Amino acid sequence: MSQAQLIDGKAAAAGLLETVRQDVAQLRAAGVTATLAVVLVGDDPASHVYVRNKVLRANEVGIRSIEHRLPADTAQDTLLSLIGTLNADRGVNGILVQMPLPAQIDEGAVIDAIAPEKDVDGFHRENVGRLVLGEPALTPCTPSGCLFLLEQTLGDLSGKHAVVIGRSNIVGKPMASLLLQANCSVTVLHSHSVGARELCRQADIVVAAVGRAQMVDASWIKPGATVIDVGINRIEIDDKTRLVGDTEFESVSRVAGAITPVPGGVGPMTIGFLMKNTVLAARRQSRQ
Ligand code: NAD
Repeated sequence: MSQAQLIDGKAAAAGLLETVRQDVAQLRAAGVTATLAVVLVGDDPASHVYVRNKVLRANEVGIRSIEHRLPADTAQDTLLSLIGTLNADRGVNGILVQMPLPAQIDEGAVIDAIAPEKDVDGFHRENVGRLVLGEPALTPCTPSGCLFLLEQTLGDLSGKHAVVIGRSNIVGKPMASLLLQANCSVTVLHSHSVGARELCRQADIVVAAVGRAQMVDASWIKPGATVIDVGINRIEIDDKTRLVGDTEFESVSRVAGAITPVPGGVGPMTIGFLMKNTVLAARRQSRQ
């Protein structure tokens, strides 16, 4: 039985970060210090790990990072006022507010408050609209990373049938828009889809972003298809916690042509694109 090619997200992200490092140095030579402001509200342990990794990675490529840590009981107005200050600060190019936010804060209001040109997560409605219209935009990091891996693996995606499983605002929907922009025929499957498995089995490209451990097994996959697994799920096996994706890696990799592992696939690309978006924002703001 043949085995799918493993799509190495760690290596791809390392290459991407190297180009970012060069871009940052070029900006610095022109007198611009690319700067990312990271805002963390509350004590969620996973969010702390994410923020630490983002700041570390930024520093590694020469991006200046500014951290704002606010207590869990922070009022929405306090956070909005901080965002207003960061929007007005010409020394800040990108603003990232780590989600999820505590219950008293409306995430939509926070995303709306970020200046679109500093919205390095690509979640602001102006960037969402621009992406859908095919205009230059800051695009969400995870789907941008998936597209990068797909183009690196397959080259031109024109005419390919892509199935995106999941329709969240941060992964599924922008992924579908990016694939459409890359001239794929796109099918989006979600929790109300009928005959999802049969539709998926017609796909040349499958992007699984469901958040259900190992839901997609080999019976969903056309032989030779390229599979991008966005899912990050923690499961217990023999009293040990393991990270698994939304696909059943063992069986799918015997049918697929290429597949991303979890971990080591899409995950590293997300941070890579956060850095790339920060440089893009800095360049646009300084017209470099
Ligand atoms: P979400 O919960 O917001 O969305 C899940 C989507 O899956 C929904 O649109 C829902 O309609 C769909 N869905 C649920 N059950 C389904 C079914 N049986 N068949 C088809 N569709 C179904 O999740 P999300 O934020 O998009 O994240 C998805 C996964 O990706 C999660 O595991 C998350 O942890 C992971 N993720 C990873 C990264 C990364 O950097 N690698 C980034 C973001 C999210």
